[in-house]
Amino acid sequence: MTVVVVGGGIVGMAAAYSLAERGVEVVLCEKGSVGSGSTERSAGGIRTQFSTRVNVKLSRASIDVWESFEEEFGVDIEYRRSGYLFLARDEATADDFEANVAMQREEGVDSELLAPEDARAYCPGLDPEPFRAATYCPTDGFADPHLALQGYSQAAAEAGVDVRTKTPVTDVHRDGGDGRVTGVETPDGTIEAEYVVNAAGPWAGRLNELAGVDLPVAPKRRQVAVVDPETPVPESNPLTIDLDTGSYFRPEREGAALVGGHFGGDDPDVDPERFSTTADTDWTIEAVEHAADYASYFGPETRIKNGWAGLYAVTPDHHPIVEAVAPGYLTAIGFSGHGFQHAPATGQIIADLVVDGGTDLVDLDALSAARFERGETHDERNVA
Ligand SMILES: Cc1cc2nc3c(=O)[nH]c(=O)nc-3n(C[C@H](O)[C@H](O)[C@H](O)COP(=O)(O)OP(=O)(O)OC[C@H]3O[C@@H](n4cnc5c(N)ncnc54)[C@H](O)[C@@H]3O)c2cc1C
Repeated sequence: MTVVVVGGGIVGMAAAYSLAERGVEVVLCEKGSVGSGSTERSAGGIRTQFSTRVNVKLSRASIDVWESFEEEFGVDIEYRRSGYLFLARDEATADDFEANVAMQREEGVDSELLAPEDARAYCPGLDPEPFRAATYCPTDGFADPHLALQGYSQAAAEAGVDVRTKTPVTDVHRDGGDGRVTGVETPDGTIEAEYVVNAAGPWAGRLNELAGVDLPVAPKRRQVAVVDPETPVPESNPLTIDLDTGSYFRPEREGAALVGGHFGGDDPDVDPERFSTTADTDWTIEAVEHAADYASYFGPETRIKNGWAGLYAVTPDHHPIVEAVAPGYLTAIGFSGHGFQHAPATGQIIADLVVDGGTDLVDLDALSAARFERGETHDERNVA
């Protein structure tokens, strides 16, 4: 049995590795170089504080891998666990926080609900005044996506994955009778395969078109900037999110900070082949102003060091679509800003689907496209 994985980002590489580990013959096609999509533009956030059980389960299973990554893959991914701190301005958001923490704790997460004043113990520069509630989990954090992808790439190659860079998949072949996948087309010829995995990140919709599949996933541009704050953000400061404005920041090294957020307004789809990969100056100034509104580290003297933009692959409820959508055609797409952290679990699920025809890791109904038709969606807010 041959599986073609389309996409050499963290999701495709994790899937290819997990499949090869289970004895499957895998060809991974990457149209550019490994990591040339969104993965290397990610901020590397890894958290358990999600609002749905399925996202918490994806996190828990992935964190098991991130924790032992150096042991298993021989690469130190610089995993720093300085926590995530969520802040609520609105009453409805504060109510959600209470429910979220209860659900997270049922799932074994060490999160807690806090009064905003008490959150200053973790984020000393916080102005608690605008907020009604906070949640904190000390074991959330972030790692280096480049190093993680390097670890997976090496392990995939060692496990026998045939990684073909500069190899765009230009068509997906399906049998005229039962619609089953028979292979893919590339400029170097046809690759016959029983399964094709769409791990094409922001290009997922284009690959779906080639396969004759229509799913709600769209590329959206997102920006982050690295700044020198007015006073250094301590390295122990959690990634702090003002959920009702979408603004967030976290410490970088030596007192610098990463600021991010998506501040509403028009959110058009972008062409993944042509978008600006540098952060806009106006957006960066706005991101710093938002952060300055609730954290004393930031102000008019904050100096912009650099910034970048990349693409989220976004679904209507900000959860991915992970399933066999057609016979032999599997998707691992639409991670809506969480694809780096959820790649290890996703790789395992894809391997389970191919080898066993199902998985015990999560309830796949929650990640199936049919949820949109059934109207059974629960929105995960689209932040870091
Ligand atoms: C600014 C920013 C910050 C982020 N921060 C976080 C974060 O803190 N935590 C987190 O978990 N996630 C974060 N993300 C999201 C994360 O980067 C993505 O969810 C993740 O990288 C998706 O990985 P992927 O492998 O699916 O896609 P990609 O890394 O985009 O890989 C897809 C690959 O497919 C290839 N490809 C596409 N079409 C074809 C084709 N037809 N043939 C062959 N190859 C093809 C592309 O060249 C690309 O290399 C962030 C994203 C951005 C932009």
